[in-house]
Amino acid sequence: MDTPFDVSQKDRMVWLPSPTGCFSVKSAWELLRQRRQYSLVDSLLWSSVLPMKMSFLAWRVMRNFLPLDVTLRSRGLSSPSRCGCCYREEEDLLHVFFTGPVASEVWRRMSGRFGFRLSNCLGMASVFKAWYWTAADPSKDHIRTFMPVVVCWFLWSARNQERFCGVRWGGDKIICEIDHFLEGLGKANLFRRSHFNGDGDCDLLCLVTTPPRRRIPRAIMWEKPPFGLLKLNSDASVKHGRATGGGLVRDYQGKMIFAFYKEFGDYNVLEAEGLALLFGLQLCSQRGLRPSLVEVDSKALVQLVVSGVLAKWPLCNCLRKIRSLLEGFSATIAHVFREANSPADRLADMGTIGVTEYDQFQELPAIVRASVVLDSRSVPGVRWISEGG
Ligand SMILES: [Zn+2]
Repeated sequence: MDTPFDVSQKDRMVWLPSPTGCFSVKSAWELLRQRRQYSLVDSLLWSSVLPMKMSFLAWRVMRNFLPLDVTLRSRGLSSPSRCGCCYREEEDLLHVFFTGPVASEVWRRMSGRFGFRLSNCLGMASVFKAWYWTAADPSKDHIRTFMPVVVCWFLWSARNQERFCGVRWGGDKIICEIDHFLEGLGKANLFRRSHFNGDGDCDLLCLVTTPPRRRIPRAIMWEKPPFGLLKLNSDASVKHGRATGGGLVRDYQGKMIFAFYKEFGDYNVLEAEGLALLFGLQLCSQRGLRPSLVEVDSKALVQLVVSGVLAKWPLCNCLRKIRSLLEGFSATIAHVFREANSPADRLADMGTIGVTEYDQFQELPAIVRASVVLDSRSVPGVRWISEGG
């Protein structure tokens, strides 16, 4: 096994569970905590759009943690029970929140607005899940995911108004309160278009106050280094868990000095980006070349190199070597968009076995040659950029 060490540098402690390599209480907690099985329903209750009190109520509904007559009786507090929505049945969780005459009317009318009908729901968990799955593009913050949480809140509010203030339950009143609440969310700018994905015809869409995001094309091109200087571009690719990398050094005319491709094995994307860059820098060093400018299209890698943080094991070793080589070359590293890194991108993507070094332009694969020629003529690529972000 390869345990890299560097006698020229001081030993440093690396905290394995955190991405920065530094100790954090959060990562220690993640290490110690006992994970239970992931619960989809529980994850659906905590929407960033809704006030926390609504999510807590839904959480209590899911666990039957509400002081309903039947629940209290099961805990030894015997009392007669009569439900406030129909004055006919006993007050239990499912009756108040789903099967009672008012609750079922509210659910029917709310789902009708979205063009579906709930069926075969035996408990509240299946109600939350059913709403979630009816979305064309289900997500945690979709209107169809958090709507049942809102409905539960106002059903509970109606129950309490009847119980403590004598106000009669009414479907119209509850729907009205829900609409008023949603309107408030809209006024508070909390709705995004993404919350309505697949629901373009929903009447609530008018509550979205933010304009749709426009995407504008931008010309992005590789820039030649200044006269007499060399530029190294590198890139990595991970496919089916197999990491490969490539890159090339070019001069001020955009002429290739050398290029490389290497298969690395089982690494994640960031590690592979680091290894590809390190390999490129090492080749430069072996060949006695000093690149002054280095470009990669991984923002995360550039940030790690520049910030000087320790980083995760085993990436920290690779980063230390990259930093020391860059320093030796007095080179600066910068992030570029993929459109400005296309020969390296294509080299990294070749997917062959082993290592290849190219000294002649003619040896390069045709698709890489084409990219190099386009770059040398400053032909830009087009990138669609979201306005305002
Ligand atoms: Zn009832």
